[in-house]
Amino acid sequence: MILKTLGFILRAIKFRESDLILTVLSREYGKISLIAKGARRTESKFGAALDLLTLSELVFYDADNLKLLKEASIIEDYRAIKNDYERLVLALQTAHLLNQLVEEHHPDRAVFEFLRDFLSELGSLQNLDLVGVAVKLKLMRALGIAPRMSSCARGRHRLIDEFWFSPQSGGFVCAECHQAGDTQLSPRLAQNLKMILGLSWSKLDRLALSEDEITLAHGLLDEFISFYLKAPHIPSK
Ligand SMILES: [Zn+2]
Repeated sequence: MILKTLGFILRAIKFRESDLILTVLSREYGKISLIAKGARRTESKFGAALDLLTLSELVFYDADNLKLLKEASIIEDYRAIKNDYERLVLALQTAHLLNQLVEEHHPDRAVFEFLRDFLSELGSLQNLDLVGVAVKLKLMRALGIAPRMSSCARGRHRLIDEFWFSPQSGGFVCAECHQAGDTQLSPRLAQNLKMILGLSWSKLDRLALSEDEITLAHGLLDEFISFYLKAPHIPSK
């Protein structure tokens, strides 16, 4: 069967003499692997359509254990990001994180649109450390696994003026429920993390978080993500 989709190239691995195995986040079929025959030849018919982070229209042959790429044409190559080292690094880290968190063959339009929005806006965003925090939060929300921040993750209590973070419990916890090992957040940082989820990319630069707060947020979200990745379950969404 011949299928067609829009897809982002997340990863490319050398295969045989001149082929590539691509990991693609496709709009219609979720994360899939495609074999691109001859893609590493200089005169490959695919050209730059298989570059990392490029959005391409892909036509492929789909059989039981094999998906073979037939045609690829560029929709958007995000050239501005690729010519900017720091933004390119952040975009590649995002693709890597997404690849880790997304299961194969689970079509999810929210995740696809998350990546499309992010790559479209990244070129004009300034505070890249803060953008990195937003990437983690917004990607988790698109997947339906964002930390609970609106009430206590241990007992659904209201959060008033003390905020603790517990990756194991799934988000913020209140003063009564917090345990040894939880990390206390300033009310300001807690409010800002909550706000990030509601802000569009272009408004992120309005938030004023200190370097220390951003570093703390990165650490806690990384802990949250690795706890999630180690847990023996399938995404619920
Ligand atoms: Zn509580």
